[in-house]
Amino acid sequence: MQLCDLPAHELAKLLRNRKVSAEEICRSVLQRIDEVEKKTKAFITVDGEKALEQARRVDKKLKNGANLPPLAGMPVAIKDNICTKGLRTTCASKILANFVPPYNATVVEKLAAAEAVIIGKTNMDEFAMGSSTENSGFFPTRNPWDYSRVPGGSSGGSAAAVAAGESIYALGSDTGGSIRQPAAFCGVVGMKPTYGAVSRYGLVAFASSLDQIGPLTKDVTDCALVLNVIAGHDPRDSTSVPGERPDYTQFLKEDIRGLRIGIPREYLAEGLDSGVREVLEKACAVLKEAGAEVAETSLPHSAYALPTYYLIAPAEASSNLARYDGVRYGYRAEDVKDVLDMFKKTRSRGFGAEVKRRIMLGTYALSAGYYDAYYLKALQVRTLIKRDFDTAFTKFDVLLSPTSPTPAFLLGEKIDDPLKMYLSDIFTLAINLAGLPAVSVPGGFVDGLPVGVQFIGKPFAEGTLLHVAYAFEKRTEYTSRRPGLGR
Ligand code: GLN
Repeated sequence: MQLCDLPAHELAKLLRNRKVSAEEICRSVLQRIDEVEKKTKAFITVDGEKALEQARRVDKKLKNGANLPPLAGMPVAIKDNICTKGLRTTCASKILANFVPPYNATVVEKLAAAEAVIIGKTNMDEFAMGSSTENSGFFPTRNPWDYSRVPGGSSGGSAAAVAAGESIYALGSDTGGSIRQPAAFCGVVGMKPTYGAVSRYGLVAFASSLDQIGPLTKDVTDCALVLNVIAGHDPRDSTSVPGERPDYTQFLKEDIRGLRIGIPREYLAEGLDSGVREVLEKACAVLKEAGAEVAETSLPHSAYALPTYYLIAPAEASSNLARYDGVRYGYRAEDVKDVLDMFKKTRSRGFGAEVKRRIMLGTYALSAGYYDAYYLKALQVRTLIKRDFDTAFTKFDVLLSPTSPTPAFLLGEKIDDPLKMYLSDIFTLAINLAGLPAVSVPGGFVDGLPVGVQFIGKPFAEGTLLHVAYAFEKRTEYTSRRPGLGR
């Protein structure tokens, strides 16, 4: 094990005790990037020089006896749809290939205030549309556990970077599963916070009523520490919820006696890989053994989550992506007859196939004559889905499910069949529709590939999720395993 294989809270202890310097930690990460990045392709941009500069600044402050925040000096990778001032932010799209934001996202400002060391920007499905990172406009990322497999998506670069030790932790975004599913595929912890818990200011919008930024970390303790940094009200995001956020580390306790855990029976249906089912059954056994009450429950409208999501998300995307017209920023086609021709050529060349598919789906669902039949209907079903969760939470403190129905699939396996790809998020989409928090935690292995289990909580019950996830982690050893990386 190298420094870059350790979680942030362990490195922070070493740093505080002067056993290592922030620069050494940073160099360890950069060295790992040198060794494996050719195989993982987790990053779109790495800025080693700037990272080292930030690390040295932390060392200097420590030397002067400054009392620094817990994650000071820890390298972080940021998904390339989160704006970083002066550092290219592409959304893995050709249309933004040269976009350098003039401002920082609120979460990036918060990381800076916490003395984080930004290593670079991670690969993703273009505009966060996808579940495998194969929709990147530049190149696919590969799973560090098996380079022939996808890391999941859309935050596949962030998950792969953390799993491979190319970063200590990372930020991702989750609209329908894009933090949790890649976390599951890469054997790391990934949390989608409650809608409104973390500011979306500076997150390039995909589907504004579903998007949320969250942490990808090596373990549950790090997840709590990162959430401490990024959560909070932001006046620049009108959907961010006012009020103080708790210190999330206070929930890291092992005793879960009496905790009521519900398993939605609809999530154990067809399409669930038998190995993944076994992982979930074992997880139930572990939790029962720890004194939790585990019982089956029902989310009766589950079958409608996928069609509902694939109306609402594309509808919002078609509106959000209207701004990429070649006029103000990003790619602009030059060989054009007139302004209409410029719009057409810019957008048809700048966007990839999946993004165009979503724009067309969404525009159709929003157009006159179809709005009531599709978009409005989807909004109504969204309410029913939300109510299913409300009802389940009258009897249970948290719900438990697989994160994704299968382990990481092969590159190319689903890329030609959008429906198959969409099914990869079948257990995560409904949570975004309902605005709830959920965390994916490594739950076991199937044929050497990591598999995640997902805990789902009530609004703003991130603390409960961290509690049960921590108790689970302490009774299993999955978060401490690292991929061999074929080195
Ligand atoms: N895979 C889903 C989609 O393609 C979710 C993506 C996400 O959460 N950003 O829309």
